[in-house]
Amino acid sequence: MDATPQEFDRVLSSMCTRPHPAAARAAQRFLADNPGDPATYPDVAALEERALDTLGTVAGLDDPAGYVAGGGTEANLQAVRAARDLAASDEPVVVAPTSVHFSFQKAADVLGVTLRLVPTDDDHRADPDAVAAAVGDETALVVAVAGTTEFGRVDPIPELAAIAAEADARFHVDAAWGGFHLPFTEHEWHFGHASLDTLTIDPHKVGRAPIPAGGFLARDRATLDALAVETPYLETTAQATLAGTRSGAGVAGAAAALDAQWPDEYRENHERAAANATYLAEGLRDRGYDVVPPGLPLVAFDLPESAFDAVRAEGWRLSRTGSGEARIVCMPHVTRAMLEAFLETLDAVRVG
Ligand code: PLP
Repeated sequence: MDATPQEFDRVLSSMCTRPHPAAARAAQRFLADNPGDPATYPDVAALEERALDTLGTVAGLDDPAGYVAGGGTEANLQAVRAARDLAASDEPVVVAPTSVHFSFQKAADVLGVTLRLVPTDDDHRADPDAVAAAVGDETALVVAVAGTTEFGRVDPIPELAAIAAEADARFHVDAAWGGFHLPFTEHEWHFGHASLDTLTIDPHKVGRAPIPAGGFLARDRATLDALAVETPYLETTAQATLAGTRSGAGVAGAAAALDAQWPDEYRENHERAAANATYLAEGLRDRGYDVVPPGLPLVAFDLPESAFDAVRAEGWRLSRTGSGEARIVCMPHVTRAMLEAFLETLDAVRVG
């Protein structure tokens, strides 16, 4: 088979996007470097420090501990792992809203902890009263989402942080997707706004780094120390990451993406995406579709199955939420012209 990479001109469902050109160039140069062994590969290790510093700046943390992970799944798993290993309870429980990404189910499964999911409110956000009722002595971690995968919602982070502190549990925020939109909004979501222990923020999503480039940030070194194992055969003596060998392309690409775009290009991207989400939501409402009002730039709306299948048959990559709405993520590659063309397809399949 003569395989070709996916073109992005009809992709509306994905949280991945075209990498920034500077990031793609940097990735190409560091393909063979292994940031998992910084003593042998010092240059890519220095790029990782630089990426980490900028991620800290984005997320309100002066002296961040953390690293460039394989993606949001790994970063979330590491947050759960640290909480489990630092927990007082032998049977630690993670309390999270039902809107958390499915990576927490994997983390709970792999790490042998209980995941207690708490229903969200009518606006798809974590409900602080319900979370408070679900925490107890065995709660090791409370999770909040800043930019949910299905509806783009931001949970009430300060209230949830206070609930975690009251329960003597750690607090993790998953801003894997939302982290490069939120600095340009009024939301309170990061280390500077509330007492967080860990945070996920992925350069390979809205950050326009090449895959794989997730971001795992921790308030203090003790979190990384809890995750570290000794590494006898490497030049480096300990490793806190989950993966051993890691992608130099991901790390160098993340550093270059952040250098090129923070903050001005990220702000421009946010403003363009937010305007596109508003345009799309209005266009859909004008046509009689039921639209979930967008929070961060992601539009979910009711679309009958026959129309969903028909637009997909026209080449549009579209997905559904767990509750059945079609969802469109206004990623950096999603332009106004694409959305106009999408609405035209919707009109055509309705008529046809
Ligand atoms: N967290 C959130 C909020 C996400 O939206 C996603 C993926 O879309 C993830 C975590 C998982 O990230 P990855 O697919 O990079 O592992």
